[in-house]
Amino acid sequence: MHPQLQLLVALQDMDQMIRETEESREQLEDLGFKHEGLENLKRAREGLAGQIDPSLGSWYKRLTARFGHAVVPVVGNLCMGCFASIPSSFVSKTNVDKVQKCESCGRLLYWP
Ligand SMILES: [Zn+2]
Repeated sequence: MHPQLQLLVALQDMDQMIRETEESREQLEDLGFKHEGLENLKRAREGLAGQIDPSLGSWYKRLTARFGHAVVPVVGNLCMGCFASIPSSFVSKTNVDKVQKCESCGRLLYWP
């Protein structure tokens, strides 16, 4: 997998965790749990985001705002974001040199 894409997949996982933690925060605090972990998670997220190419980072941000998920797998030649078929020229080999975008929805693609 393209190293930038690997970072983006990790960033997406972290963003998901942060969202879930923030959503359950109040509930957890009501139960007497403290949420120091969230600050650590956010710091780690910033560190990760700093390693991502700025143009990919802003693309990621736009896609996340629009779709919730910016990076999606390709399964059976279909984009798992919009289910458009992905041309065979996009195969995983080329994925090593270049981050591929779905031509239909613009999400960043990876081959699991
Ligand atoms: Zn798509």
